[in-house]
Amino acid sequence: MKLTNPQHTAPADSAARKAVEPVICYPVDTLPPADLDLYTRARVGAKKTGEVLIPPREARTFHVPAGTFFRIVSVEGPQVGDLNLWNAHDINERFYAGKTRALHGTHLSTGDRMWSSFPTLRPMATITDDTLDWYGFDAFGGSVHDVIGTRCDPYTANLLAGTNYHHCCHSNLCRALAEETGQDVRAIEAHVHDVLNVFMCTGFTRDTQQYFMKATPVRPGDYLEFFAEIDLIGGLSACPGGACDSQHSSDTAQCHPLLVELYCPVNEALSEWTSPPANAYDRSHGV
Ligand SMILES: [Zn+2]
Repeated sequence: MKLTNPQHTAPADSAARKAVEPVICYPVDTLPPADLDLYTRARVGAKKTGEVLIPPREARTFHVPAGTFFRIVSVEGPQVGDLNLWNAHDINERFYAGKTRALHGTHLSTGDRMWSSFPTLRPMATITDDTLDWYGFDAFGGSVHDVIGTRCDPYTANLLAGTNYHHCCHSNLCRALAEETGQDVRAIEAHVHDVLNVFMCTGFTRDTQQYFMKATPVRPGDYLEFFAEIDLIGGLSACPGGACDSQHSSDTAQCHPLLVELYCPVNEALSEWTSPPANAYDRSHGV
């Protein structure tokens, strides 16, 4: 955090330096746009092909073929979820929250892409529907579905409180991915990554720019829906923070399950559609 009382005196032109207008780091007008009209047409009449219930303070994995949809649904009560995505054929390709944030901003909604890690850097999924899109940003600067919060984890909890809590989203996702792959939980841990915080309401405080959370506005029946751009394994944890209105990384908060529903198009809208290719950079890095 910045010092309340800086150790260095501001230069004479400090006001002018601070008044310089910002520029957007990554203008996205050159990105291939998400073809939401196509996805909307493909979604008409789509057949529900399965569902996975994620118990409170646990995570589960699920498979989503390219060209199909998955929906994360609030059931029973306000609950936030931590979402990981992997390429179903190579889990080294995984969701890259930091670059997604740099491209689309701190909080995602309809039309935003979930980008994959280097060297592929391509859309893994596109958000196609968000019943909380009305929320926008509140008076505190908060919003839902952030890509800033990484995930709750037992290491930070240990640093801050000296605990050994095993049902943080990080550990939940580790156990779920170990079960999915048949690998040891310690061997698979490095594949668990920074998340999309589904339904979580977060922001940065106006005065100190510290990461904050507040009670999620999600209610049963609300959902966030995605189009799978490549064959995916999803991992979703029902966070031990519950609605994230008090604390996480403990068994204190009231928690609820989350439901993942899978939908397969039944019409011909996607007959010409193909998965996005891997990034075109030649990977020579100037050598
Ligand atoms: Zn969590």
